[in-house]
Amino acid sequence: MIQQLQQIFRSITKSLEVLYVIEGIKPCARILVFEDELNKVIDFLNERGIKTSISDFKVLKRNIQSEFYSDKSIKISKNSPQKGYLFVYLSKNKEIAEKAKLVEENNNHYEFGLLLGYPRCCCEFFQKNFNENNADLTLKILENSNGYEFPFYNNIAARHFDVSLLSHFPHSFECKPSIEIAKTNLKIIQKHSKQLAVMFSGILQGVIVYTTEEGIFLLRKYEKIGNEIIYGDILTTAKSKLYFLLSSNKELKIIDKNSFVVSDVNIKGKQYGVMVFV
Ligand SMILES: [Zn+2]
Repeated sequence: MIQQLQQIFRSITKSLEVLYVIEGIKPCARILVFEDELNKVIDFLNERGIKTSISDFKVLKRNIQSEFYSDKSIKISKNSPQKGYLFVYLSKNKEIAEKAKLVEENNNHYEFGLLLGYPRCCCEFFQKNFNENNADLTLKILENSNGYEFPFYNNIAARHFDVSLLSHFPHSFECKPSIEIAKTNLKIIQKHSKQLAVMFSGILQGVIVYTTEEGIFLLRKYEKIGNEIIYGDILTTAKSKLYFLLSSNKELKIIDKNSFVVSDVNIKGKQYGVMVFV
């Protein structure tokens, strides 16, 4: 099933969103569909008993890799000649799909999050902190979290590499209801593909260096001794100066969640985050 979903939806996390709705563990989901592929997608969903509702506008997406429900996008008219993506709301219940479309049109983030099955604490957090200029709440979550070591279930930073067990921003990296959702999702992945479940768990257990301007880095095959991290390869979203610093050293020392040292250079500030997911 996952392979079949991937042929249609391409991205793994997007395919999983659809799978969670088909499996009945997510009441509703919103996915972006390129307008030329809309009919194919609707047919596929209808055949599986999934009802849909489609946005009255299109969006131009800057980062089409990420299906995260809040990532920034630019709205254009549905009649614009420019090709764009439509929001498709899917649910086993047609009313819920329609309602999701409506509340999102009204920018009611709180209600929208609840309809998608996200925890109340996280919907409140999102409503309070999200705005067009602050669409990525990852560092805000870190601000809300204690220390820098967290359960890998809540690792939403790896979504930039198409790996995540959550599709919402947890209000904290320690949020318990989010961990429960991630565990349920992992069980469903496991049911359909043991290999993918192992791959996900492996990638999510890594060290993340998160920055607002210099890219996101996933340090893999790491070993932690006290507050020192020795790592193997790096997955990155940007070949920035920081990337070259991190990749030429393979070791860093964590001072606190917003401060670390690589090769005697102390990188710190609210625009930097470091997290160890175990
Ligand atoms: Zn929460």
